[in-house]
Amino acid sequence: MDERIRYGLSLKDAQLSLLKASIGMMLDMLSDMRINATFFITASLAEEIADELKEIKNRRHQIGCHGLTHDEYDNYAKLPYNEQIYRIERATMILEDFVGVGKVTAFRAPGVRISATTLKILENLGYTVDSSISSQRFDLSSNMNPMLIFAPRMPYHPEASDAYRRGSMKIWEISISAEKFGNVQFVVGDALNLPFKYKSFDFICSR
Ligand SMILES: [Zn+2]
Repeated sequence: MDERIRYGLSLKDAQLSLLKASIGMMLDMLSDMRINATFFITASLAEEIADELKEIKNRRHQIGCHGLTHDEYDNYAKLPYNEQIYRIERATMILEDFVGVGKVTAFRAPGVRISATTLKILENLGYTVDSSISSQRFDLSSNMNPMLIFAPRMPYHPEASDAYRRGSMKIWEISISAEKFGNVQFVVGDALNLPFKYKSFDFICSR
């Protein structure tokens, strides 16, 4: 029998308890490995996992912003400036003021899609790190973006007019981890759905 039906949970409740259990497991794993991590949280979800966020903070990890919502619409590579600034400002306010996670300075775009406009907005709001570029990512889906193949692998300051090139912006871009086969990097499939990335932890920890 479907576990959700057996325990009388709605799909939303079931997903939420799965998420909460996963966060607990991640925290234990990170403690065992003595790694400090960044958890990127979508603001619309934050109030529902406020206790878990408190525990993440207590264990001295960083909480980053993962946008306001996480839908198809949240494509920051295409959204106009006004839409982006509304969503990023509101998400930051929810995390910092309503949920009270403290100053948020790291960002990962929902769906890991950004533009130079996104980085400008983040920088103006006091963000110091963005980690949304899947450097050297190659895929055959509608997400295919040839610019990713040439984006720097190591942390870099982007160009104000081009998020995928080194330049002189103050914000750091920290590429998302990927598996390497030959000379091509593949982003690990499901890892994109996790609220954290191993590689980001390394770089953010040693920042
Ligand atoms: Zn995501």
